[in-house]
Amino acid sequence: MKPKPVVRASEVRLYTYCPRLYFFETHVRARRPLKASLRLILGRLQHLAHEVLARLRGYRVEELLEADMGGVRLRGKPDYYTVRGSTAVVVEFKSGRGPRVGAWLSDVMQVVSYAILLSRLKYTSVVGIVRYRRSTHTFKVTSEHVATLLRLVDEVALVKNHGLVPHPLRSYRKCLACTYKVECFTMDRGLNLDLEEPGSWLEGFMQSQSEVT
Ligand code: SF4
Repeated sequence: MKPKPVVRASEVRLYTYCPRLYFFETHVRARRPLKASLRLILGRLQHLAHEVLARLRGYRVEELLEADMGGVRLRGKPDYYTVRGSTAVVVEFKSGRGPRVGAWLSDVMQVVSYAILLSRLKYTSVVGIVRYRRSTHTFKVTSEHVATLLRLVDEVALVKNHGLVPHPLRSYRKCLACTYKVECFTMDRGLNLDLEEPGSWLEGFMQSQSEVT
């Protein structure tokens, strides 16, 4: 039997951040600029320090979780999680800064991916925590989160396996720092298609959430 296509929690995060960026990273993959590589190494070191502390506090660290979700296999390694009765508490550490209130939707959806995987291990409820450099956001995973995640997973699989070009989720801050800005803006120049691109719904959805979940 043909194995099911895999979608990783980190892919869900990147797709929610910008579906078009996910496309470039999956199908084009430019060389990372030095500054971004250094930032990545620094982030990894901070992650390691947090992992050591989490282990000392009895958390389960970087365990691989996976489960079938319809025609897709969802896979991910939460930074760390613990169990309190029938509730799992999952923590995702981010070395960057969070929004003024709450958490970035992309980070929330990454945690929701882990929550779904943990719920398959029979934990009846999951509390998600996104820990930024200067703030922490704690939330209970709801059915609305799960419905949004299912839609995201389907679209990630579509873009990954069929190479569809999804919606550019533009913002000044994101696009200025983006390695693919030239290709991305050139791609849309003069294009006036009346089609609904994968990921276009995220624009309105994000505004309705105001990055606070
Ligand atoms: S330029 Fe902006 S919209 Fe285009 S891929 Fe990069 S972040 Fe996304």
